[in-house]
Amino acid sequence: MTAEYLYGRRLLAQELPDEFEPTQEVQVSSTMEVKPNSVRCTRCNYTSSIVAAALPNKQYYCSQCIMLGRVSTLTKFYHLPEPNQFDSVANPLTWRGQLSKLQRQCSVEVCQCLLHHKQHLLWAVTGAGKTEMLFAAISQALIRGERIAIASPRVDVCLELYPRLQQAFKGIDICLLHGRQEERYEYRQLTICTTHQLLRFFHAFDNLIIDEVDAFPYAANQQLYFATKQAVKPTGGCLYLTATPDNKLLQQVKQKKLGISYLPLRYHGHLLPEIKVKLTPTWRQQLKKKVANFINYGHKKTY
Ligand SMILES: [Zn+2]
Repeated sequence: MTAEYLYGRRLLAQELPDEFEPTQEVQVSSTMEVKPNSVRCTRCNYTSSIVAAALPNKQYYCSQCIMLGRVSTLTKFYHLPEPNQFDSVANPLTWRGQLSKLQRQCSVEVCQCLLHHKQHLLWAVTGAGKTEMLFAAISQALIRGERIAIASPRVDVCLELYPRLQQAFKGIDICLLHGRQEERYEYRQLTICTTHQLLRFFHAFDNLIIDEVDAFPYAANQQLYFATKQAVKPTGGCLYLTATPDNKLLQQVKQKKLGISYLPLRYHGHLLPEIKVKLTPTWRQQLKKKVANFINYGHKKTY
């Protein structure tokens, strides 16, 4: 096995290829923290009572992240630190489209966020061209030699992003990771994956972009928040994308823990129609009256 399989990842023995030969550099760590009354999984951070997590012979497992292979005290994690071992690229962006004035402004802000590894929220309405606004920032990060990932809670979003990113960065190999996939993992500078797949990374990414941050199952999922933190390097940045930020994200913006860029326009430059509340307690009667009027007189006007 080449070492790159483990760069920036933390895997169980059963996730390693058959030809795996542990070298001295491979870091081996325990998977669970066992206390007198509780057990904590170090992959997903779930703490369970010792009784609920028990296996025979005083062994313990985590029931919460079992869909990615069972973490238990019977196995260890294998990890190699991320070395950013990528070929240098001069101009990876092959996309030649144009951004609108507001999109350009957001794109410049996103470039700054990724450059300084900030925690930032890009709040843009559906159809605002969010992906295109990321291209310049991703391109610059690739030139800097950074490892980047775009994660989404939804597989369909990953499957849609993959060909668009391949098209925009034609010379760059991209790794696509999701639960329904058959292909073997490849070490790549740019990764597109589901947020669940982040549970297998450890201090890998210089910048992580999370699309549809408000979508199930990411929203309010403590395991996936933990996975996000673990997957990014301690010096790394995180950019959250959404059309509908929840209160928790807005709270973080308020507390200045999270920067914000806001784009209320769709790509054609029109504002979304503003919803105005108008109380019409007698709408039923009004409708009946109008329908009755139409039946009685409306058709006569038509002819
Ligand atoms: Zn777990």
